[in-house]
Amino acid sequence: MKGKTHAGIGVLTFIAAYNKLPIKMELSGLAIITLASLLPDVDHPKSIINKYILPFKNKMTKVVFYACIGLTILYYSFMCNGEDYLKALGILFILIAISSHRNGLTHSLTGMIIFSFLAGYIGNIYNIDNVIYYFMSGYGLHLLCDMGTNRGVPLFYPFKRKNVKLPFTYKTNSKTGNTLEDVIAIIGLIYAIYRLPKIF
Ligand SMILES: [Zn+2]
Repeated sequence: MKGKTHAGIGVLTFIAAYNKLPIKMELSGLAIITLASLLPDVDHPKSIINKYILPFKNKMTKVVFYACIGLTILYYSFMCNGEDYLKALGILFILIAISSHRNGLTHSLTGMIIFSFLAGYIGNIYNIDNVIYYFMSGYGLHLLCDMGTNRGVPLFYPFKRKNVKLPFTYKTNSKTGNTLEDVIAIIGLIYAIYRLPKIF
């Protein structure tokens, strides 16, 4: 599924859930949901996130780039007696480096839980409320949407290798698939334009 469709679905869910939940939702929540709904595809060198981060969009650059960040963070946290979350962050970057697209950690429940806890922890440090909920919603939606494609996702990685999909799937990058994604994006955009001014 394309990044813009994932982001669109994330934004749409935020708007739809706004005012219907007991917790007070903030603008920062919208940013976190959008980011979290793009994050699982960080395992793909050509995804939206990597488009802005990687100097060259190929697999080798992705592996080297994220491995270097991970090792630097790990080195720093061990040398300076950094907090445990820094060590976890370092290991996470290394796992991103070695995951090939939709084959590993970032498209699994384990990945979702690790990323969400880290996001919640970092949110606490900066006093941003409810980060973990926003983050899990965005991330979970991404996995759910990818389960709607014919390839599915390795939901139970690393415990089970099998890809899980929904009973109804469509083929990504096929004509029908692209049309379906465009329709979702357009409906989302219209709904957002209609509802957003009332929220902010
Ligand atoms: Zn994905």
